[in-house]
Amino acid sequence: MEKELELYGLSRREFLKTCAFFASLLGVSQMEFTKSLAYALEKAKRKPPVIWLEGQDCAGCTISFSGLLEPSVASVILDKISLRYHETLMASSGELAEKVYHETLKEGGYILLVEGSIPKADDRFCLVGGRPFREIVIEAAKNAECVIAVGACASFGGIPKATPSKGVGVGEVVSGKPIINIPLCPVHPEHLVGTILHILTKGRLPELDDHKRPVMFFGQLVHDKCPRKDHFEAGNFLKDWNDPSQRGWCLYEKGCKGPLAYSDCPVRKWNQGINWCIGCGAPCMACSEPGFYSEMSPLYMASLVLEKGLPKV
Ligand code: SF4
Repeated sequence: MEKELELYGLSRREFLKTCAFFASLLGVSQMEFTKSLAYALEKAKRKPPVIWLEGQDCAGCTISFSGLLEPSVASVILDKISLRYHETLMASSGELAEKVYHETLKEGGYILLVEGSIPKADDRFCLVGGRPFREIVIEAAKNAECVIAVGACASFGGIPKATPSKGVGVGEVVSGKPIINIPLCPVHPEHLVGTILHILTKGRLPELDDHKRPVMFFGQLVHDKCPRKDHFEAGNFLKDWNDPSQRGWCLYEKGCKGPLAYSDCPVRKWNQGINWCIGCGAPCMACSEPGFYSEMSPLYMASLVLEKGLPKV
């Protein structure tokens, strides 16, 4: 075991600390997780190779992933996976980067991460090195173990779906491969790392819902766990952000789509649990859902939620 830890550049203490964090991500006991991770490390002859492609994106998901402090993004990239290609994060460029990329494609067995959507209206909306991004994704998916759509755009089209490019998610372009959608705008870094760790430790995909989202992160309605739900039930709907007497009231009439959105944001929160959208007074935009962004706008009007009816409470 010590040898394997050395291989991954971890001290025993760091390993146990990392295990505690990952166990909390996956909702299992630390002891069970430590055992399964140790087993996975022993079995793994090499760190899983990962290719990360970017299409119609703003790199927000990369930035979100880079903000992961515990474990640090450096520890994930250097110790847990072998990130072979990532346009924004890799140190190499030009021919060297392309060589590694094509060698990895040939080798196969890698995890393919895709950030950003793929244009449906016309390939010319997203060309990388003169090639349509759609072609690049199909080619890269061919020898991948599985494909992970990182963020709302790669999962379901996201904001670019509402533009002339008519962006679509990976699932509309790639077939015959296991696909996992990890939406939100941007992706939650813990959702991404937790999903990769689940594959690494269990040797299989996590349980997915109808939209191919991991149930462990997207199995509950934001509304059900929202700390403002008592105000919702009491009919205390915030009308004026400047009125201190309405502080903490339900944001439903300000366009909150929490009753339609599946995600663990209310309990996981963001930035190492510091806060989340509703916690700082912004209505939920339902960026976890396939209809985001176009069907969820206008973001500050409750019309769409009203059309679909109030959730049963
Ligand atoms: Fe929370 Fe939004 Fe539901 Fe109100 S409508 S309780 S703010 S999720």
